[in-house]
Amino acid sequence: MGTNYRRVLLKLSGEALMGNMGYGIDPEVVKGIAQEVGEVVATGVQLAIVVGGGNIFRGVKAASAGMDRATADYIGMIATVMNAMTLQDSLERTGVQTRVQTAIAMQELAEPYIRRRAIRHLEKGRVVIFGAGSGNPFFTTDTTAALRAAEIDAEVIFKATKVDGIYDADPHVYPDAKRFTSLTYAHVLAKDLRVMDSTAIALCKENNIPILVFDLTVRGNIHRAVMGESIGTLVGGSCEIS
Ligand code: UDP
Repeated sequence: MGTNYRRVLLKLSGEALMGNMGYGIDPEVVKGIAQEVGEVVATGVQLAIVVGGGNIFRGVKAASAGMDRATADYIGMIATVMNAMTLQDSLERTGVQTRVQTAIAMQELAEPYIRRRAIRHLEKGRVVIFGAGSGNPFFTTDTTAALRAAEIDAEVIFKATKVDGIYDADPHVYPDAKRFTSLTYAHVLAKDLRVMDSTAIALCKENNIPILVFDLTVRGNIHRAVMGESIGTLVGGSCEIS
């Protein structure tokens, strides 16, 4: 069976690397993600990753405690580079070739972000990990994911989360809540469903990039998503409930 996609952008939040810890990085969780990414890349699909930093530092939170927002955001972006390098290390140890590209130049440890170069790496089967977000304060790594997906011409964004999709009500509060199999961008924006921030959704809408929201904690889900199995919720189609 062939894969459903040629080029995918995977958005991993910082929290995805944290596992059940309250802060930082759980090496076992990262190892599991690296193994799964390795399996996916072995199918021939091209994979780029945008990684968040919320497990280490969040600009908005520090700003609300009194810090200058732009400064706090730059620290947040540096946090994403820590995650990017951790992921790189883990991927390379499982035999996957990678390159980290950062939106803030740190040439001693990673390549600077160069769009055409990133695409070339992908064509050669390397996983490209984008660190330092967009390089701009006041943005998020979700928006970065939408931006990079458009730039590298990815067919889809995989938004890996801890829930198995988007529901019509909070499934923890309402046990009979229904999961959407697909949703329009307009619905996500209008209902403020918080899949990604609105800037990210708007960018995906404008560029017709679908977003597949699925549960990363279920082993094998990235592979299932790549194979086009019906998991999670696809934002970008019509509104359908399962
Ligand atoms: N950030 C930023 N510009 C960007 C991307 C990220 O300033 O383009 C900063 C921002 O402070 C953010 C932090 O980096 O809080 C970590 O990123 P994010 O919160 O998106 O990570 P995630 O929620 O995915 O773990």
